[in-house]
Amino acid sequence: MIIKLSLKNLSFGYTSTEILHNMTLDIGDGQIVSIVGPNGSGKSTLIKCIDRILTPKAGSILINRRELTTMDRMELARNVSYVPQNSVRVFPNSVFEVVLMGRRPHLGWRGDSFDEEKVWEVLQLLGIENLALSPFNQISGGQQQKVLIARALAQDTGVILLDEPTSNLDIWHQIDVMEIIRSLMHKQDLTALIAIHDLNMAARYSDAVVMMKRGRIVAAGKPDMVLTTENLSSVYGIQANVRMINDVPYIIPLARIPVKPGIGIQRKNPHHADAIPPG
Ligand code: ADP
Ligand code: MG
Repeated sequence: MIIKLSLKNLSFGYTSTEILHNMTLDIGDGQIVSIVGPNGSGKSTLIKCIDRILTPKAGSILINRRELTTMDRMELARNVSYVPQNSVRVFPNSVFEVVLMGRRPHLGWRGDSFDEEKVWEVLQLLGIENLALSPFNQISGGQQQKVLIARALAQDTGVILLDEPTSNLDIWHQIDVMEIIRSLMHKQDLTALIAIHDLNMAARYSDAVVMMKRGRIVAAGKPDMVLTTENLSSVYGIQANVRMINDVPYIIPLARIPVKPGIGIQRKNPHHADAIPPG
């Protein structure tokens, strides 16, 4: 396996409190890797460290064996694209112009016909070419999500980071987006790191799954090795059945594991990072 993206002893904190602890991980060229874990476990934080929106406290991140910190912004943007977790985003532009923004990091960028062709190509790939002239702010949340994926694909990088790319999409579009990512991976050796809540989507479309809890990797490997009844219990606090269908594990959540009786009403799940008191 050729290593494309490598994390070595990565640590990060927004304040003096450490959020990501000593994370080490190798991701192969042309692999789709999903990061799963309860809310607040550090998935988005990790992705932002890789896109250098956040600066790690310790450790290193390498792409093609090169230290990320040695790249300038433009070079980084030619190597890594990032689809943020959906939030209200205002672009006073047409869909076409938003996607064209993805071409900016490329050498000799002039917004010329080559760049425009590339934009049409990804719009067609995602089946949203009919939206090209629509104002970004007037299309649905799901359509916006596809446009932001198109922008990242237009950026034409070897590594694409996606933070919950299917969270706003109906089931047809979820499968559509994951199939597109997978086919690009096969065609262009695209390496994708995807933070995703849907464990069944992760299982079905990933070469490997990384399970996080409270800023640590607790399991990493083939989907069926990671998405086990035991891990779902200890990391998510749920009781679940796992069924293999065509070599893919399917998770059927049955119940949450009751929290220990304590004083008062405990609403928060102690398995989740959010339940840790601040400080
Ligand atoms: P996930 O994406 O897995 O839900 P996040 O990476 O968003 O988790 O959050 C990990 C932890 O970092 C949480 O405890 C969260 O409260 C904290 N956190 C996230 N963003 C910030 C921020 N901007 N400032 C301080 N703490 C943050
Ligand atoms: Mg997140």
